[in-house]
Amino acid sequence: MKLIKKDEFLNFVDSLIKIDPRRVIGVKSKGNKFIFDTLNSANELRLDYDVTILPPKKYFLPPTETLLKYDLTDKFSVEAVNEVTPLIIIGVHPYDLIALQQMDIVFRDTYQDHNYIRKREESILIGVNIQNVSPYSFAGSMGTATTEEGFDLMLTDLGDEYAIEIGSEKGEAILNKYAKIADADGDTINKVHDIKGKIASKFKKQLNFPPEELPKLLEENYDNELWEKNAQKCLSCGSCNLVCPTCYCFDVQDIVELNLRRGKRVRTWDGCLLEDFAKVATGENFREDRAARYRHRFMRKGKYLYDRFGFIACVGCGRCASACLPDIADPCKVFNALKEG
Ligand code: SF4
Ligand code: SF4
Repeated sequence: MKLIKKDEFLNFVDSLIKIDPRRVIGVKSKGNKFIFDTLNSANELRLDYDVTILPPKKYFLPPTETLLKYDLTDKFSVEAVNEVTPLIIIGVHPYDLIALQQMDIVFRDTYQDHNYIRKREESILIGVNIQNVSPYSFAGSMGTATTEEGFDLMLTDLGDEYAIEIGSEKGEAILNKYAKIADADGDTINKVHDIKGKIASKFKKQLNFPPEELPKLLEENYDNELWEKNAQKCLSCGSCNLVCPTCYCFDVQDIVELNLRRGKRVRTWDGCLLEDFAKVATGENFREDRAARYRHRFMRKGKYLYDRFGFIACVGCGRCASACLPDIADPCKVFNALKEG
């Protein structure tokens, strides 16, 4: 573990920005909310944020991304497109780091998604331990309030300085090259350990049972009337999907130029709450019913992906709860309600 004075940390970030301003992303304020965005100066960084509107997923699975271009003008030619800017993302909270690790598993599964994988491999993630808790978040009971992996560097605020845990060789390399650091002593290591140990208890919102019980609970409640009752208020806006760090569904479309000779294949974010999500070519819609779509999202978070990959695909960030106008998207509320019967 290393130590860096706060003013030296800002110098470190400014040095990174100077090398390539396109590469350095950090958490900034936007009105009374927070976003991940390109940093123009280290002074814009807000490492005391509670939660960002969108997770850092948007840099690895962009909302719109061209996958290939084709041209039939002379002879048929196809060019794979994979635009990668190696990013340094500063201020990622542990629950978002864990969500990215889940995405890594999904995008490396049966099909290796090179567009996603290269962006991830070429990026550097500088995490920060949570200082302020979002009132919507229940990461404390999902085991995602802290993490020992998934970062290149991890900061813990110690007042005048940050403790820095090193998670990878590339994290260590940029630190050694651009930052003025000192070794942390045993007392500091214990202090960081104590701070991390107390973070989970700062979350007021809690799941009332261990998350490991979710797959069974959901299986037993597939026909619960709660799905229909809550879904009556659902606007099918898809916001709960789009803000979620563990939702990864996308649509793929061919966009053909008017001359019908050239075109491109583009993928865009999609969401299982949207009406057309499960519509197929013949017009058949496998989840036409709003309640079926509403239930599907919770089944997917707490059971289907658990059955497939062995993890609960909700890290408790609370973004969906804060984005849902009729207030029916909150997994913590829904899961607790199912448990209470
Ligand atoms: S389901 Fe909601 S609380 Fe869970 S990870 Fe997604 S946005 Fe966050
Ligand atoms: S649950 Fe809420 S956020 Fe999700 S689609 Fe329905 S209204 Fe929109």
